[in-house]
Amino acid sequence: MIIAVDGTLASGKGTVARGLAQRFGLAHLDTGALYRAVAVSLLESGTDPAETDAAEQAAATLDPSTIDEAAIRTAKAGAAASVVAAQPKVRAALFALQRRFAEQDGGAVLDGRDIGTVVCPDADVKFYIDADPGVRAERRWRELVARGDATSLEEVRRQLEERDRRDASRESAPLMRAADAILLDTTHLSIDATLAEAVRIIENKTGATPRN
Ligand code: C5P
Repeated sequence: MIIAVDGTLASGKGTVARGLAQRFGLAHLDTGALYRAVAVSLLESGTDPAETDAAEQAAATLDPSTIDEAAIRTAKAGAAASVVAAQPKVRAALFALQRRFAEQDGGAVLDGRDIGTVVCPDADVKFYIDADPGVRAERRWRELVARGDATSLEEVRRQLEERDRRDASRESAPLMRAADAILLDTTHLSIDATLAEAVRIIENKTGATPRN
């Protein structure tokens, strides 16, 4: 079974994807972490994330087992990730890795921006998670502050809108809802309630039984 979870920044897609993987006993890949890791390796070597050849090289040699969680979760890494992600060569270099992960025995949940449209158009169930930009900005700001990233809500909102725009307008695999993806709006729904709804949908569509 392959489950695709796409959506906007801070929509709750990562939490939903992790929860689904746990409930159905599937492996989980946060594909945004791959783009973030490519971006961080460039930033650490003082390379502009917009430099295509260097970005492609960093993507082609990325070893997911060495990703430093703390380093990739900063606001700076997120902004640079969306710059490297707009480059078709970077996307191509990360495609095979994601595809291999999706095809593993036992099934997988992948979350990102183009899982249902490009990486796994064959997914058994596809979700598209979204929420009002103001609600998403506040969620992300709280996460960043909790991690000690001293940034203002206004700055997070500005970056979020810029990143949404860049992700949705790029030519290569832009962020968009697959025609057969089920929309879950988390503006007024808690992430727990959203997860419960997603579990119900998978049970109904595939007959799979969740754990516990
Ligand atoms: O989801 P997250 O915020 O970690 O993703 C960081 C960036 O990576 C996104 O803004 C997007 O530009 C890019 N991304 C992508 N395709 C994916 C996952 C992430 O383009 N499948």
